[in-house]
Amino acid sequence: MHTPEPTTLSNDARIVIIGAGQAGGWAAHTLRDEKFAGTITLIGEEPWPPHERPPLSKAVLAGVAPPESTHLFPLTEWAALDIDWRGHHKVLAIDRAARTVDLDDGNSVGWDRLILCTGGRARTLTIPGLEEASTTLRTIDDSIQLHHRLRPASRLLIVGGGWIGLEVAATARQLGVDVTVIETAPQLCARSLPAEAAQLLASLHKQNGVHILLGGGLCDAKKNADGSITAQLSITNQQKPTRKRTESVVNSSAGHAVTEQITADVIVAGIGMIPNDELARSAGVACANGVLVDQYCRTSDPSIFAAGDVAINSGGRATKPFRLESWQNAQQQGIAAARCALGAGTPYEPMPWFWSDQFGVNVQILGTTNDADQWIVRGSPQCITSETSVIFFYLRGGILRGVIGFNAGRDIRTARRLIEQSTVLDTDALANPSVSLKTLA
Ligand code: NAP
Repeated sequence: MHTPEPTTLSNDARIVIIGAGQAGGWAAHTLRDEKFAGTITLIGEEPWPPHERPPLSKAVLAGVAPPESTHLFPLTEWAALDIDWRGHHKVLAIDRAARTVDLDDGNSVGWDRLILCTGGRARTLTIPGLEEASTTLRTIDDSIQLHHRLRPASRLLIVGGGWIGLEVAATARQLGVDVTVIETAPQLCARSLPAEAAQLLASLHKQNGVHILLGGGLCDAKKNADGSITAQLSITNQQKPTRKRTESVVNSSAGHAVTEQITADVIVAGIGMIPNDELARSAGVACANGVLVDQYCRTSDPSIFAAGDVAINSGGRATKPFRLESWQNAQQQGIAAARCALGAGTPYEPMPWFWSDQFGVNVQILGTTNDADQWIVRGSPQCITSETSVIFFYLRGGILRGVIGFNAGRDIRTARRLIEQSTVLDTDALANPSVSLKTLA
């Protein structure tokens, strides 16, 4: 796709944004920041004003922060933006010929530019008869409801050892809950962490009393008379760890799989997300497990843009289409899409950045780690506490491509410069905690 022609939308132009999460909220705010004086309609299914999700698996779930703390903007600032916010409304269809969207209250809203920030929804576990026992964590309401179900000494089974699973595990342990995590892959966070960093994260959870089972899944579950759930787990890829809480272990006849039964009060599925691209697909906008966009956030329809978890990025320096499911991307791409919708956009090619907080340890991933031919560690990769720091550096041809830092916020900022400068680095200096990274930048 070519560079878009600058367009100046007139003051009576209409921009509709579907989705009032991080991407949609920032898109709306940016349109006003860019002096767009026309009508902005922001439609969101949730009743809440634009909000971010990171606290939902941490402080809101722990009950130490109110849901309102997730709101992106103070209400007075939000009101001053003069946005036609339609909360608790669902868009049923996009009509590209008429340039309207149809809402579930029977109204239609017209647009000159449409920005899709529809995000994704949590994949759910299908356990027949146990629909209410298994839950997911994606929305503010999910977080509030799960908080009320987590009591000291209650038993939580988390299916999926990804980011949601681990953040919920950490919060639940801090509430005194007995936590088991079961993950199909032989390591945690397999989509985003190399094995050595995943092992360090697993050690953090084990030190804090989380039971981690890798290479396994939930095969069956049934509800007991007292309301608890008996879950049947199958573990295949690894030596089955010895655990006190195991109620019975049966050697399965299939391969080396063993089955294990545990009792839980709540099951949380953290097994990934499904992009909400159905509206776009039905309207004939090109999708491939998400809405395809170029580096100007444009979809296959030049008047429709997309940003955040629903967007699949291609074009520019990307060698293959990719999605960035992160807080940073939702915000930055929301801003970029708004500027592009106004014709004032520049290519959106972010350096991926991701963070999480678990057991008082801050984890950050910057850049790319999966094309490295060498990795170097600074600090002890065996153990991490809230008092210590570990950084993994990922290099290709001696050039830094990405870093994963545990309690290393300041060094991550320097690492960004090292990645950008793209020069061959002294690997001994990278490994040596007494050498300041700043001296290499
Ligand atoms: P995720 O990070 O993709 O992790 C899901 C994990 O569950 C994967 O390792 C997956 O393995 C595994 N899995 C899938 N099906 C399973 C099954 N039936 N039994 C056991 N394990 C199974 O997704 P998530 O943790 O659900 O998080 C949802 C989204 O929110 C993601 O986009 C995530 O990045 C985002 N999030 C971000 C943050 C943050 O920014 N700090 C925090 C929480 C969530 P496979 O990959 O092999 O399927």
